[in-house]
Amino acid sequence: MAKDEQDSAGREWRPETALVHGGVTRSQYGETAEGLFLTQGFVYNSAEQAEARFKQEDPGFQYTRFGNPTIQMFEDRLRIFEGAEECRVTATGMAAVAASILSYVKTGDHIVAARAMFGSCRNVIENICARFGITSTIIDGKDLNAWREAIRPNTKIFFFETPSNPNLELVDITAVSEIAREKGILTIVDNVFATPMLQRPLALGADVVVYSATKHIDGQGRVLGGAVLGATDYITKYVQEWVRQTGPSLGPFNAWVMLKSLETMPVRVRAQCASTAKIADLLAGLKGVSRVIYPGRADHPQANLAAKQMPGGGQMIAFEIEGGKKAAFKFLNALRLILISNNLGDAKSIVTHPATTTHFKLTEAQRDELGISDGMIRLSIGLEAVEDLADDLTQAVKAAKG
Ligand SMILES: *Cc1c(COP(=O)(O)O)cnc(C)c1O
Repeated sequence: MAKDEQDSAGREWRPETALVHGGVTRSQYGETAEGLFLTQGFVYNSAEQAEARFKQEDPGFQYTRFGNPTIQMFEDRLRIFEGAEECRVTATGMAAVAASILSYVKTGDHIVAARAMFGSCRNVIENICARFGITSTIIDGKDLNAWREAIRPNTKIFFFETPSNPNLELVDITAVSEIAREKGILTIVDNVFATPMLQRPLALGADVVVYSATKHIDGQGRVLGGAVLGATDYITKYVQEWVRQTGPSLGPFNAWVMLKSLETMPVRVRAQCASTAKIADLLAGLKGVSRVIYPGRADHPQANLAAKQMPGGGQMIAFEIEGGKKAAFKFLNALRLILISNNLGDAKSIVTHPATTTHFKLTEAQRDELGISDGMIRLSIGLEAVEDLADDLTQAVKAAKG
């Protein structure tokens, strides 16, 4: 099947169908499941073909750092699902974030980013970029005026995450993208927390969406990966060149795992979201829990924006245990089923204490600014029976009070 035919079929498919059939290319054996091409290189029929391939006059593959049939199937499936013109995948989510930013800026440029973001993203923007003379302004992403006021003549990128890690603050994707577009600034959205199922940044006006595929795309705690999706011009001129030349390429095996994971992602994420909504309500009713932050609840400070841009509350909850770090640790240590770890989006439910782990490098003032208290717990809901999760959380919250 030619790529064009596949695309025109793909455009008519509903998301669930695109995630099962999108991007498939079959070998001469006609395999049902996607082939795993665990190969570094490709053989040419003749010297002439090799020459043509290097000149990009012959469409085949050259070397897996540049491209590979399994990797391309993963890129095509994700691209069709997301409705993007192009997609390039990378070895990790951070490789995708770094490629999306560093491939596009040069010394003297400026980036504006929302302060509530994944720690490593903040490090890339604030520290690594700064070493190359790329400056940044970190703002409160909820405040539209702050975005406008931070713009300088050399601003090239707006970068933000919504909902944010760990406090589930939202940024208005449409409004911020509009501010950027007026000034020719590229808007990049880290869409990990929303999951690819619940939020479509490109449809809402953003230019680029980045993923840590490590999270809901794999969804089963196995392999790392990342993806950058956007317009053909941006991806081929900047991101593709960066990935091909600097080499943060995804391995074919990991691409194959991710490709197969996409088939079940809607079923997994839907089940996780349904459980998460129930658990958020349960936690809000427990004595010893002073606050629950969940974008699907009416008491979320930005519930209206959540309803507008996320058709579902997601599978992450942040909540506050009364009694600070001591009570929070008692709670964590009392859990019998839910695991203490720092990943998210997994089939296994996971709790994290951000103040002492994922966000321990921030100063206390920075943590206060982000609303990360010593009693705050981040909870990623998995695929277990919701009753078992409810029992475990209830007994652990009780134990924290004792
Ligand atoms: C995990 C994560 C990343 C980084 O992804 P890796 O696959 O761990 O490199 C970036 N942004 C967000 C929001 C994440 O949750």
